[in-house]
Amino acid sequence: IIRIDNIVKRFGPLTVLDGLSMDVMPGEKLALIGPSGSGKTTILRILMTLESISGGHIEVDGEQLYHMKKGADLVPADEHHLHRMRKKIGMVFQHFNLFPHKCVLDNITLAPMLTQGVARSDAEKRAMELLDMVGMADKAKSVPAQLSGGQKQRVAIARALALSPKIMLFDEVTSALDPELVEEVLSVMKRLAAETDMTMLLVTHEMGFAHDFADRVLFFDRGKIVEEGRPEEIFSNPRQERTQTFLRKII
Ligand code: ATP
Repeated sequence: IIRIDNIVKRFGPLTVLDGLSMDVMPGEKLALIGPSGSGKTTILRILMTLESISGGHIEVDGEQLYHMKKGADLVPADEHHLHRMRKKIGMVFQHFNLFPHKCVLDNITLAPMLTQGVARSDAEKRAMELLDMVGMADKAKSVPAQLSGGQKQRVAIARALALSPKIMLFDEVTSALDPELVEEVLSVMKRLAAETDMTMLLVTHEMGFAHDFADRVLFFDRGKIVEEGRPEEIFSNPRQERTQTFLRKII
């Protein structure tokens, strides 16, 4: 469902992705791990068309994502194309980015109503199902300020799911949370991974979680995939020296 071919991404003189290639099969659950600054977040942002790229090709669901030259970089073709491609992908960020003055229910229903023309009653019915799934149905009328970080993140997950994307991207969704709130978010995501056939890409520093969540783990270092494999292979028997060093430090 995703084909990334020889992507290069530069920020000025800094090469962040250096000829990165990877394929993702429909329904796969991937975990991207690796040292800080290795380019994991950048690859999610590129898939979300929040960045330009400096070279290479990306295909999502059979369509090119970036194909227009702008200066030295490639950008998506036009607003229409961008809008259509973005509907295929949902993203949950480290900082939840909820609308502060809207209640939980409105936070979830607004985008489907405005961007997909879903009727309010249908949007609310779906939102309540999703809130139920993330264990937040009783907070539908609360505003974000009344919620804990873990609760906000569960609402943010429900909000992304409300647009029914084919692909979900999760960027360090627990790293802004107090330790005691991490588990409730991880358990929602583990359940989601087990129960849906959605394609999911996760950037995380929680190795135990990556192990339980993913079908395949990719280890990034300096803008390249150094090693990939099934979680049990990567975590118990990493082949590359750099993977071994990283895991030794972090676990
Ligand atoms: P972390 O685990 O710390 O989030 P990461 O692997 O996700 O790290 P990225 O966030 O993808 O790493 O960043 C890769 C590199 O690109 C870093 O050196 C970062 O400073 C740089 N970078 C990211 N965004 C920009 C930007 N907008 N302008 C300049 N440099 C950037």
